[in-house]
Amino acid sequence: MVETFALTLNPGRVVFGRGAVSQLPAEVARLRCKRALVLSTPSRKADAERLAGQLGEAAVGVFAGATMHTPVSVTERALVAYEGERADCVVSFGGGSTIGLGKAIAWRNDTSQIVIATTYAGSEVTPILGETEESLKTTRRDPRILPEAVIYDPDLTLGLPVDMSVSSGLNAMAHAVEGLYAQDRNPISTWQAVEGIRALKQALPCIVENPVDGEARSLALYGSWLCGTVLGTVGMALHHKLCHTLGGSFDLPHAATHAILLPHSVAHNASAAAEALKPIANLFGGSLGGGLHDFAASLGAPLALRDLGLAESDLDCAADLAVRNPYWNPRPIDRDAIRSLLQRAWEGKPPQ
Ligand code: NAD
Repeated sequence: MVETFALTLNPGRVVFGRGAVSQLPAEVARLRCKRALVLSTPSRKADAERLAGQLGEAAVGVFAGATMHTPVSVTERALVAYEGERADCVVSFGGGSTIGLGKAIAWRNDTSQIVIATTYAGSEVTPILGETEESLKTTRRDPRILPEAVIYDPDLTLGLPVDMSVSSGLNAMAHAVEGLYAQDRNPISTWQAVEGIRALKQALPCIVENPVDGEARSLALYGSWLCGTVLGTVGMALHHKLCHTLGGSFDLPHAATHAILLPHSVAHNASAAAEALKPIANLFGGSLGGGLHDFAASLGAPLALRDLGLAESDLDCAADLAVRNPYWNPRPIDRDAIRSLLQRAWEGKPPQ
């Protein structure tokens, strides 16, 4: 039987395929833009400059200051560059950090965004912006934040380091897993979640084996698009709340935090959401939390929050922050249970 549902599909154009980055000038022109500011992180500045070169006169500059968790101070500097160059759109070239900066600019001045996504984080297909100011991360959803066009070119991910590929792939899977038990899920988001997880489950071991396997890179990027679309369409729960808290308040790296916590949050919610999680349980050998932990370990993913630099003495504060504002979760939120989940994840033990 088809369950009752209500669904708002996000608009936005996707261009997918090996070599698709060559479509960038056409995508900029399609949006009737003529003065693109190319955004990147500092480490990708040279590549961003090459991309700007490919745009020729349609690029007015490069701002290579994007950084994790979208600090407002960086956005303010980027806005000065945007206005100084009289730009009329941004080309966000990179992962969630660069895309976050483009979104933060668009949230303030409604500029058009063309994204060239080079990790599996999925931010390019969501109308969600998380910004950090004074160690607090706040999140908002708004149609203005959703990029107008996304280019996925698997060839641009061939050099994504294996550890980053693994963590980022597990980050993508986390969107889909929480989407499966979302209160506002629908048949399309459920299909996207299962298909996205299936693709990443197949692709990630091949990428670990051979990072320049073009087919595996295509499959992983396809899976991350689907998982990101789920994140952009339905509500998330405990897992995303925990990662948001640890990222925003303790400055932990986004993808690795997701990778470590996913088996624990899934195990925590598994019995309360058994029916919803059924379509993927078999993919991981029946017991989802343990299966995801073993899968992550087999890929060489980080397993312990302490290895990311989190102090054990911060766990109490993290648990307090994670229960501070009420939110929906399939299992009722309980501070002690969350505190012990965090302890196991900190030590790197398998989930309970
Ligand atoms: P990232 O964008 O910070 O990238 C990590 C590092 O990898 C950076 O140094 C980057 O320059 C480098 N890199 C990226 N692509 C590369 C490639 N193909 N080859 C070589 N190096 C590459 O990491 P991320 O995990 O993609 O993004 C994390 C950020 O995204 C966080 O701030 C998180 O909150 C945000 N995010 C937001 C949403 C949303 O919907 N709003 C969704 C997911 C993530």
